[in-house]
Amino acid sequence: MSTDCLFCKIANKEIPAKLVYEDELAVAFEDIKPVAPVHILVIPRKHISTIDDISSKDTEVIGHLFQIARKIARTKGLSERGYRLTINCKADAGQLVFHIHLHLLGGRKFTWPPG
Ligand code: 5GP
Ligand code: ZN
Repeated sequence: MSTDCLFCKIANKEIPAKLVYEDELAVAFEDIKPVAPVHILVIPRKHISTIDDISSKDTEVIGHLFQIARKIARTKGLSERGYRLTINCKADAGQLVFHIHLHLLGGRKFTWPPG
């Protein structure tokens, strides 16, 4: 837990969020400013700032985030049409919150390459 971290506070329920899933390792909640009909953030309870801070000990929890994302995608009816999973890393990618999070985006078509 990082005391100043917004997403640690959401994981600890010190700040409210619309939770869609939680277990001992991870939490998923709706993005406050959705950019798609489905926009959910999946985070580890452990504070990991960026992709560059993932250690070999975190392999299980990072894989777990993807398992959670695909289950939520299925419950939201996205499995057939598809969806996008994104992790922004640092400034050039537009990372704003420095607690690693997987964006689950779906319900519309996305362009490639991203802007
Ligand atoms: P990043 O740019 O770091 O990849 O994405 C951060 C995401 O967190 C953004 O999509 C933003 O809308 C979302 N976000 C920022 N603050 C809050 C908050 O207080 N609650 C929730 N639910 N989402 C937030
Ligand atoms: Zn944190």
